[in-house]
Amino acid sequence: MAQHDYDIGIIGGGAAGLTIAAGAAQAGAKALVVEKEDRLGGDCLHFGCVPSKTLIRTAQVYHLMKNAGRFGLPATDLQRPDFRKISARIQSVIGTIQKHDSEERFCSLGAKVEFGQATFVDDHSISLNDKNHSAKNWVIASGSSAAIPPIEGLKETPYITNREVFSLEKLPASMVIIGGGPIGIELAQAFARLGTRVTVVEFLPQILNADDSDMTDMILGVLKSEGVEFYLNSAVQSTRNLGNEKEVTFKKGEVIRSIRAETILVATGRKVSLDGLGLEGIGVTFDRKGLKLDEKLRTTQSHIYGAGDVTGVYQFTHAAGYEGGVVLSNAIFHFPRKVNYTFLPWVTYTDPELACIGLNEKTAKAKGISYTVWTEAFENNDRSLAEGERIGKIKMLLDEKEKPMGVQILGPHAGDLMSEWVAIMNGNVKLSTIASAVHPYPTLGEINKRVAGNFLATKIFSDRVKKTLRLFFNLKGRACGE
Ligand SMILES: Cc1cc2nc3c(=O)[nH]c(=O)nc-3n(C[C@H](O)[C@H](O)[C@H](O)COP(=O)(O)OP(=O)(O)OC[C@H]3O[C@@H](n4cnc5c(N)ncnc54)[C@H](O)[C@@H]3O)c2cc1C
Repeated sequence: MAQHDYDIGIIGGGAAGLTIAAGAAQAGAKALVVEKEDRLGGDCLHFGCVPSKTLIRTAQVYHLMKNAGRFGLPATDLQRPDFRKISARIQSVIGTIQKHDSEERFCSLGAKVEFGQATFVDDHSISLNDKNHSAKNWVIASGSSAAIPPIEGLKETPYITNREVFSLEKLPASMVIIGGGPIGIELAQAFARLGTRVTVVEFLPQILNADDSDMTDMILGVLKSEGVEFYLNSAVQSTRNLGNEKEVTFKKGEVIRSIRAETILVATGRKVSLDGLGLEGIGVTFDRKGLKLDEKLRTTQSHIYGAGDVTGVYQFTHAAGYEGGVVLSNAIFHFPRKVNYTFLPWVTYTDPELACIGLNEKTAKAKGISYTVWTEAFENNDRSLAEGERIGKIKMLLDEKEKPMGVQILGPHAGDLMSEWVAIMNGNVKLSTIASAVHPYPTLGEINKRVAGNFLATKIFSDRVKKTLRLFFNLKGRACGE
């Protein structure tokens, strides 16, 4: 049998790669992680989830301060935020988490970390810093970066992406965000709340296009009320550098319009990071969307796996972690496991948040699956009112057997509220269980119980049940009104 330096080699020290490295090393496998940057953690830690959620929180606090009057508090005379201080807070949060993702920690677990750009020289070996390393199995977990659309003039116009936006020297007076997906929309709200004049230009007629429009329209309304300007159905045609300002020209219907701003943020989706790995030479197939993988996450070379954003499926940190677990199971434990994304949740961290699991109306219709919809509004939730939050609702889709096939929550802490549904749907829990389980009062979580109750009420309080009770127990019927 061929002798290799390592049992498993992992390209990419981000969410997926580090999950696999930690698991493999702890299981006793000799593991190598290769990272092209000079620190571990990947996009999520340095340019994604962590800085964006930290910025969002800062913007939310500032927004609350500006709206102190709504809470019966005196109005405050607020200064314009100093973005360097915001950036310092972001770096401090990253620094704290970085300790968990340090080379020393992985070494203590038993995994070797090497920094540099890896390129495959054959299907078991990479070249790294002029040295070759071989492994029995490899995992490609090299993530993604901001996709830059081929817009005329963009190359000559200074713009930023998620890599630069969290470490700006000053708060831009104005910003055009190209792209109304989750990254663009989260940042639009955060910057608008801090005082930047934000305009979003989106090609599609809807923001957050993967989600149902009744939910995303509510987010659109909130952002508009906070001063964000939107141009939907608008295709950016060109950009121009005017020195202090940049110009973005787009076409909406037959009308061509130009807007100017201090900063352009490009947020038009993600490009998988597979260039330079030498995959063409070792028989690993991929396209623009990502690696070609089977259900066990094996590439077209069965000892080389893919996990994380390079799969091109769900580009989230928790998806990367989940896929990392599937790879570990197949490559290290030799316990065959297939990916199943049926109940993979996702959250857009606007305020209010939008959390989703399973099918929504859009995906159910596309699959030709019939469903019924049950809702409950946050304005009927006592805690929500106490918190000063009125906007949003929970929407539950039931299949023909009256089992939940998807839930969406738009409201305060929607991401955390979704955890109950993660357990319900993965555990195949009955709606009667959640509706009869005692939830603490007053909590936002009562909305989960209420939506299940709304459905069950139609059964419990049906005319047939009423008739039966009247017949057997001689109930007298209404005491008031008709
Ligand atoms: C602004 C923003 C906000 C986000 N917010 C969220 C969120 O709230 N929740 C969520 O779940 N997801 C969020 N995401 C998505 C999340 O960041 C990604 O899904 C996640 O980082 C993917 O993990 P990964 O391991 O595939 O890639 P990464 O974590 O990016 O790791 C890949 C690593 O591979 C390295 N690499 C690349 N090529 C090579 C090479 N040739 N050799 C060696 N190393 C290489 C890279 O440097 C990188 O460190 C956000 C993303 C962005 C941009």
